[in-house]
Amino acid sequence: MTEKKRSLSGIKPTGTPHLGNYLGMIKPAIKMQATHQTFYFIADYHALTNIREPQSLKEYTYDLTATFASLGMEFENHAFFRQSDIPEVTELTWFLACLTSKGLMERAHAFKDASAKGQDVNMGLFSYPILMASDILIYDSHVVPVGKDQKQHLELTRDIAQKFNNDFGVDFFPEVEPLIFGTATRVMSLRDGTKKMSKSDPSDYSRINMTDNADAIAKKIRKAKTDPQSLPANVEKFEARPEAANLMGLYADFSETSIEDVCNRFGGGEFSAFKKQLADLAVAMLRPPSVPCASVRSGRRGRRDSRRRSDLLWLDGSG
Ligand code: AMP
Repeated sequence: MTEKKRSLSGIKPTGTPHLGNYLGMIKPAIKMQATHQTFYFIADYHALTNIREPQSLKEYTYDLTATFASLGMEFENHAFFRQSDIPEVTELTWFLACLTSKGLMERAHAFKDASAKGQDVNMGLFSYPILMASDILIYDSHVVPVGKDQKQHLELTRDIAQKFNNDFGVDFFPEVEPLIFGTATRVMSLRDGTKKMSKSDPSDYSRINMTDNADAIAKKIRKAKTDPQSLPANVEKFEARPEAANLMGLYADFSETSIEDVCNRFGGGEFSAFKKQLADLAVAMLRPPSVPCASVRSGRRGRRDSRRRSDLLWLDGSG
């Protein structure tokens, strides 16, 4: 029997998971349980580059675990863990850091974007791609399901692995492939089509959270920023119409059709009618995952409040 390939992916506990996380990473990752040996983790060390409150880290870790639980993560058959549970990852990070040039790290988008915004860049953020390379390489991963924003980090992982293999004249670390699925691999903010949908955006209207109810989902789509023109009839127009491109991309992903089909069907029409259909589709697609997600989450609270053991208490280290 041939061994299944390994799929690895992580997600930072820096906020409530949103539609971008779902389409870019969680949905494909969950699907891959059927075909791969999977290793999924909550990237609590990565989160430390910007999270300072221990309680938030804990709550977001529960949120993510609840999301994976409600979406069909099979905890009995597949590894699901916190990054910090495996100290060897940070040990390997140091070895790899000693082989990685500063110049390579200076090319990383996360660092460049933060510097361009004049943010104070800590060494954690600067060397983030090395920790990520270590996460991927330590489990001998073959594929990594991620959103498009992580493509460059995966390329850096390959560079670091190759450097190790060349320096020591070995064929130790395998080549790793990013797996970028679907039509909505970079979901943009609902308030600004040029910005990635993210947990850290101050406006809750910029994203659809995996815990949002049907009314909130529909309202956020209704209020999503658009432009004054009618919907574009072909993808060539998308570059100048980022909000339209984002919403039409979401429709294509939810309905499992191509962007071209969505352009053919809605091009020339009004945003208001399109948004109504998109909202109905989004609710139909997202409510099945988000209802159990909210209830798994509140179930944990209920159980903890009544001081009974919860199946999620292991995350406290007390279960
Ligand atoms: P993060 O929230 O940065 O820890 O990202 C966790 C996973 O979600 C990564 O695989 C990202 O590529 C993916 N992801 C995050 N934001 C988006 C987005 N706006 N669109 C698509 N994928 C995303």
